[in-house]
Amino acid sequence: MEQDNRKETQAIREQTPRTQYREHSTPLFLTSSFTFESAESMAATFAGEESGIIYSRYNNPTVDELIAKACALEGMEAGFATASGMAAVFASLAALVQQGDHIIATRAVFGSTHQLLTEILPRWGVSCTYVEPDKQDDWAAAVRPETRLFVTETPSNPGLQLVDLAGAGAFCREHGLLFVVDNCFATPYLQRPADYGADLVTHSATKWMDGQGRVLGGLLLGTKAVMEKVIFFCRHTGPAMSPFNAWVLTKSLETLRIRMDAHCASALHLAEWLGTQPSVTKVHYPFLESHPQYALARKQMKAGGGIVTFELADGAQAARQLLNSLEMCSRSSNLGDTRTILTHPATTTHSKLSPAERANVGISDGLVRMSVGLEAVEDIKKDLLRGL
Ligand SMILES: *Cc1c(COP(=O)(O)O)cnc(C)c1O
Repeated sequence: MEQDNRKETQAIREQTPRTQYREHSTPLFLTSSFTFESAESMAATFAGEESGIIYSRYNNPTVDELIAKACALEGMEAGFATASGMAAVFASLAALVQQGDHIIATRAVFGSTHQLLTEILPRWGVSCTYVEPDKQDDWAAAVRPETRLFVTETPSNPGLQLVDLAGAGAFCREHGLLFVVDNCFATPYLQRPADYGADLVTHSATKWMDGQGRVLGGLLLGTKAVMEKVIFFCRHTGPAMSPFNAWVLTKSLETLRIRMDAHCASALHLAEWLGTQPSVTKVHYPFLESHPQYALARKQMKAGGGIVTFELADGAQAARQLLNSLEMCSRSSNLGDTRTILTHPATTTHSKLSPAERANVGISDGLVRMSVGLEAVEDIKKDLLRGL
């Protein structure tokens, strides 16, 4: 993909109007509510005739700056920031469906998204059909008259399977479906679903967007038409992000490009290196030529991302041994941090799935997920070698 970083520049310089102090960095408006010049201006703001800040469940200047930056990065028109990534995913679905509606989702969505689609939304009469991310010819068979949304994630967690965004966009247009993408793994720096017709993008800002493991956060970014419904839903159900978290995240976004360049360079290096280790039977990384969708990865992503997964010959036993031998890298279920993190999905993040369901989404007992941090690769290798 072309190296055009104008959107990143915009995200660095984007700022809400400053106070009379002309502060340079983003001020933190840790206040629940705002006042009005007059009763008339208050009435006009409530009526939407004047733009203004009302109440932090609706909007807040610090949060608005984060949203403006994220919109610039994603190439989207409007946004809303939520307390966590899952609050964003829930709002992206609940705001756009009603009883009797049907959703098509690619298999291997995030664990809690799977629970929403299969356990929570069905209680309100909303059903879901899973399709295989790489078998687009079969998707049309899942479409029903009541299908409203197509929901996807690419690359997937932890299988790192890709969905062809151009193909998915065309599929949604053909069948009149709203196109919703969880872009958490790629970040808007590596991949912009809006370029392929996505109506709505969700993020767990907790991951690469903060990238430093400090705060929870979620983002909903979309077209004006879709965000009108989503913002209405969010204002009245209350998942708003804390201004403090927005203040942390708005600065995080200014370094997204340089952090992701470094994460991706180390991840590619480690993926290649892991492939030469005798105890590793398979390495999954979108920018490895051995990835079955390597050509697609090169087409729609700027780089392969910060997650590498690999399979160990001796299964769960070997994975446990590797995790227990770590002296520097962290054993944690999180991802997208300056610190390298290793996880054993089969016994942690995906332990609620049956062995058959795990096999279906490519999670073997010996699979290890590594979120590559910003430490020197030589130090990461040294730590991994202890247990490989
Ligand atoms: C972590 C994650 C989420 C949920 O985000 P939280 O901030 O933990 O609520 C959703 N989607 C993906 C792909 C994730 O990795």
